[in-house]
Amino acid sequence: MKIALITLFPEMFEALTGYGISSRAVNQGLLEVSSFNPRDFTDDPHATVDDRPYGGGPGMVMMVEPLLRALEAAKSDAPENTRVVLMSPQGEVFSQAKGIDCGQMPGLILICGRYEGIDERFIQRHVDEEWSIGDYVLSGGELAAMVVLDAIARHLPGTLGNQMSVIDESHLDGTLDYPHYTRPEKLGLDVVPAELLSGNHKQMSRYRRREALKRTLDRRPDLLTGRVFSQEDRKLLEECFAGRNAVNATE
Ligand code: SAM
Repeated sequence: MKIALITLFPEMFEALTGYGISSRAVNQGLLEVSSFNPRDFTDDPHATVDDRPYGGGPGMVMMVEPLLRALEAAKSDAPENTRVVLMSPQGEVFSQAKGIDCGQMPGLILICGRYEGIDERFIQRHVDEEWSIGDYVLSGGELAAMVVLDAIARHLPGTLGNQMSVIDESHLDGTLDYPHYTRPEKLGLDVVPAELLSGNHKQMSRYRRREALKRTLDRRPDLLTGRVFSQEDRKLLEECFAGRNAVNATE
């Protein structure tokens, strides 16, 4: 997959291309990351990319022309059907499902805004979608694009040593992940749950599913609203409720 970044700060992305799972995706040739800096597409000696807003007010606005030239350069290097996405706090909130879907795309162009944002005429004419990473305002789109890039990279087939790692993860099927433990088996009074030490695969996976449902119920009940549960999940949820009632009764 090819991801092109339109950014005033291309060096920020070295944090991803140089480290961890995303760097593995790049080194294995599963992901190609390129960047196009609007400053390189200006005509004036100061490499100006922003100007004052019409109507007054604080801050500066990114001008259309340098952005458009950078976008054209990115497009000339992009596969067919590449979507142009603007990182924006006003966009659709990025999700796990979107990260997985993106892995099927041939390419993606992510535009990182700065200052007060981008001239609206550029957005209207040249942007296919706007994505947000949450309901808060960052000072630039680079961190948001990094979040998106990392979420996509880890779902590209072949990136993770064990593709099973993404199968049980939080948000994949609308539940949170189960708790994880590693050695030593005993840490003072804290011991690894007996089910995980049983060596019985059915018991272990039943335990994990029950804990995933319990966590979701406790921490993010909104994720379970309107969901149709399998018979097995219903049984496990009943166990979670019974556990809760028992705790409440002793309090
Ligand atoms: N004036 C804009 C507003 O209130 O909607 C905010 C501009 S922000 C200071 C500058 C840039 O950061 C935006 O153009 C966008 O690219 C990026 N950005 C800020 N918050 C973001 C978020 N939650 N998700 C994605 N991008 C964000």
